[in-house]
Amino acid sequence: MGKFNQREMIYEGKAKRLYATDDPDIVVVEYKDSFTAFNGEKRAEMSGKGRLNNLISSEIFGHLAKSGIPLHFIERVDELRQLARRVKIFPLEVVLRNITTGSIVKRLGVAEGAKLPRPLVEFYYKDDALGDPIVTEDHALIFGWATEGEIKQIKEITLKVNDLLKNLFSKLGIVLVDFKLEFGRAGDGALLLADEISPDTCRFWDSSTGDRLDKDRFRKDLGNVLGAYEEIWRRLGGRAN
Ligand code: UDP
Repeated sequence: MGKFNQREMIYEGKAKRLYATDDPDIVVVEYKDSFTAFNGEKRAEMSGKGRLNNLISSEIFGHLAKSGIPLHFIERVDELRQLARRVKIFPLEVVLRNITTGSIVKRLGVAEGAKLPRPLVEFYYKDDALGDPIVTEDHALIFGWATEGEIKQIKEITLKVNDLLKNLFSKLGIVLVDFKLEFGRAGDGALLLADEISPDTCRFWDSSTGDRLDKDRFRKDLGNVLGAYEEIWRRLGGRAN
């Protein structure tokens, strides 16, 4: 990619800041040290968290790129920043579950920790004020959040990402329990996997001990939160440069 000029901040979210560059199609994504859970009700700052999520997310995106997953990610710039293609994000959070835990157990009263017969894909409407309610594909179509073709592509990519990451993490002694993806459209119309893939957005369980190696350590006050993120980074090969 070479040199780029970081310009004004264009967006600040809970975990990342976006900056413009001289190229209108490229943004800088900067990872923050903040933790939030329960729709922003629980918050904390942990020094080093932004670095770990940037390293982990970049490594995972690099792995997916090799298998042809269309990504907004271009490259990691340094310990806190990535370059990415500018996209317009679909207002949908796409959750894929291999094992039951978290909100599905609360919502449906199903058993905790049960392996599902096949991956379950769910859509949530991205709206903090509404608490990101679960929706059906029909809601997305009828309210114009995505077209039928886009939903089909989004589901196909999500299932492929699951296969690739389940395989990657199982070799590292980690069970990929569930994860959340976001998608966007680039200026040229390409549908791209966007946002981040990190212990903030996935549930990782150690295959032998069952230890939680993800944001559930923060949500449930299990302690050693950054130690778990560090462990994910270490198992991924953990070298910053
Ligand atoms: N998730 C996320 N952002 C959200 C909600 C969920 O990244 O706003 C991830 C979460 O980390 C987990 C998966 O999506 O890997 C499923 O989360 P769940 O619906 O069980 O919600 P939670 O229990 O986190 O409320």
